[in-house]
Amino acid sequence: MECLFCKIIKKEIPSEIIYENDKVIVFKDIHPKAEVHLLILPKKHIVSVNHLEEEDKELMGELISTAQKIAKEKKLTGYKLIINVGREAGQIIDHLHLHLLSGKKIELP
Ligand code: 5GP
Ligand code: ZN
Repeated sequence: MECLFCKIIKKEIPSEIIYENDKVIVFKDIHPKAEVHLLILPKKHIVSVNHLEEEDKELMGELISTAQKIAKEKKLTGYKLIINVGREAGQIIDHLHLHLLSGKKIELP
């Protein structure tokens, strides 16, 4: 079965999309662990940080720039960026994503 996040990217599954361009999409986490909990991901299906290739370097930069842009737009004065890599670290969706968390009560995703 196809990846859940790829289905969200193709709008086959609804989500609250905050931002998207041709390479990146940002939507709200369905089970927020903070007042603001967004997921920032490449539209390209990359399983995890361990699956990044040389050609993906620029794309990773774009994910971080997107986080910065969204934080600025939302006037977030502080935030965490978290990437879980592998099951033991809590990665449940095998499509690389950054968690952007902000607000008073942040739990680790
Ligand atoms: P991970 O644990 O893989 O780092 O993070 C996956 C995240 O995806 C979790 O925080 C989880 O709440 C979120 N999530 C899982 N399924 C869905 C969904 O169908 N829609 C949205 N918006 N988020 C989801
Ligand atoms: Zn995918």
